[in-house]
Amino acid sequence: MRPDPHSLLRQVFGFEAFRGVQAQVVDRILSGAHTLAIMPTGAGKSLCYQLPAVALPGCCVVVSPLIALMHDQLRAARTLGIRAASLTSVDADWRETQDRLVAGELDLLYVAPERASGDGFRALLERSPISLFAIDEAHCVSEWGHDFRPDYRLLRPLLDAFPSVPRLALTATADRHTREDILAQLGIAAEGLVISGFDRPNIRYAIQPRDGMGQQIGDILAEHAGPGIVYAQTRAATEQLAEALGKDGKRPVLPYHAGLDPETRAANQAAFLASEEMVMVATVAFGMGIDKPDVRFVVHAGLPKSIESYYQESGRAGRDGDPAIATLLWGPEDFMRARQRIAEVEPARQAGERARITALGALVETAGCRRAVLLRHFDEDPPPFCGNCDNCLSPPASIDATLTAQKLLSAVHRTGQSFGLAHLEAVLTGKTNDRIVQRGHDALSVFGIVEGEEAALLKPVARALMVHDALETTEHGGIAFGPAARGYLKGEHKIELVLTPKKERRRRRDTGANPIDDPIFEALRECRRDLAKEAGVPPYVIFHDSTLRDMAAIRPKSLRDMALVSGVGIRKLEAYGDAFLAVLRQF
Ligand code: ADP
Ligand code: MG
Repeated sequence: MRPDPHSLLRQVFGFEAFRGVQAQVVDRILSGAHTLAIMPTGAGKSLCYQLPAVALPGCCVVVSPLIALMHDQLRAARTLGIRAASLTSVDADWRETQDRLVAGELDLLYVAPERASGDGFRALLERSPISLFAIDEAHCVSEWGHDFRPDYRLLRPLLDAFPSVPRLALTATADRHTREDILAQLGIAAEGLVISGFDRPNIRYAIQPRDGMGQQIGDILAEHAGPGIVYAQTRAATEQLAEALGKDGKRPVLPYHAGLDPETRAANQAAFLASEEMVMVATVAFGMGIDKPDVRFVVHAGLPKSIESYYQESGRAGRDGDPAIATLLWGPEDFMRARQRIAEVEPARQAGERARITALGALVETAGCRRAVLLRHFDEDPPPFCGNCDNCLSPPASIDATLTAQKLLSAVHRTGQSFGLAHLEAVLTGKTNDRIVQRGHDALSVFGIVEGEEAALLKPVARALMVHDALETTEHGGIAFGPAARGYLKGEHKIELVLTPKKERRRRRDTGANPIDDPIFEALRECRRDLAKEAGVPPYVIFHDSTLRDMAAIRPKSLRDMALVSGVGIRKLEAYGDAFLAVLRQF
């Protein structure tokens, strides 16, 4: 008799219950139904095929786009006692893997799409017992997706050659177009679509204008322990930030971008995976191929490409479900640069690009819930109050600054669209200096028309006008009208300003559910570190933080009790149980 899914969940994975739609997906697969599962990052997609792979006789073939990703998964699966292998260009044990596959001695086989679609591979599968096709990162099959991989399109004949083998396509991102495309491309009926919500409730979103960025990011590093990623926009910025953030030596900081030589890149990535405290300063390419579950913060040092990319990139935080933060620092120049790039894309795509920028503008400028903006973007109804974003936690006031905007625009116009903001501020607030007198700007009608507290609005108003394409900076650092200027000058559009409440500076390390300075927890972590080093795997492959916390709370005294800890399956119990019991016994 086949073991039932719940006992496998407990025994192999050490988990108490399925999460979200996992049970639904697993049930469908066990009953042989083709399925497309759309689940956000960290929702536990791997389990949806790994559990059936163990439950069903024969091997589950997993198509995955990146070797690094495959090897990560492979390692994790093996520590669970799952019989897993891969056939990639860097594997030396092809012969053995093929023999095991044919003999029915494999649960999981990872392959790249270009390999899977080849004739030789199909012939191999025809001689082997196959239980399931899992197509990971399935959005790669669609030209609509952000990551189109032509090789994914070639999978269909293979799938069709095994009509009775269920197909499970998995992805975290899929707008409606992409979804429909994946279903059609992979031959999955519309009723096979299973979607779980997009919300990542453990991620705390915050968005701020850049204002002394080194300090802003430094504060985040000081407040949040654990590994983190800082996304910079260019290679040069990546290097500079990594250097600046690492200067105080308080925690390791490394750069990662495509300009580094492959060895350095691989070494930096490996160091990050293994680390419990490292900060990686990287371009957005970093993170695509890694599934590090314990990333505690993701900081964007500049505007992402789109809401989709922001969701994806910030979503690399907190895969393990523990509290994490995502902070976006933006400047008006990001918007200007994004607009300049529109001119470079083919005309047919320009409207779409403009819509992307507008949507980002709405995200950074809202006085409302950030999560709501993100979720609505994916057509999902947000919760009425998320309670876990900057605006929900300290609701900002919003004021109508249209009049101030008109004053600023007039000053830009009257001074000839060539002066910077400092000069404009001086003119508007009625200061005199040599330059103002020389140019006769003290005689202009706009001289001194901004008084008192209104002066403080000029900077944020300028920022807002730049976001809305009403102002732009010139090559020489001056400010000039953008295409939308006239509309604002005539009062056709309003400028709403969000006034963020002054943040009191906390110097507390507070992210995370992990206890601070708890000797038992720290001792368990040290044991985990040692075991990880010995096995040559990152610490989270041994156990997640949540498992160590559970251990510290339950304090099992025997292997039998240890088996009750969440995240401890049979294989890990055998491999590591005694070591952790020995640590606990010291307390
Ligand atoms: P995804 O591929 O959807 O981003 P993963 O498959 O990498 O997510 O899983 C994210 C994390 O959640 C993993 O570390 C996994 O061990 C954990 N996880 C998955 N399912 C469960 C569950 N039912 N209970 C507890 N933890 C789970
Ligand atoms: Mg995954």
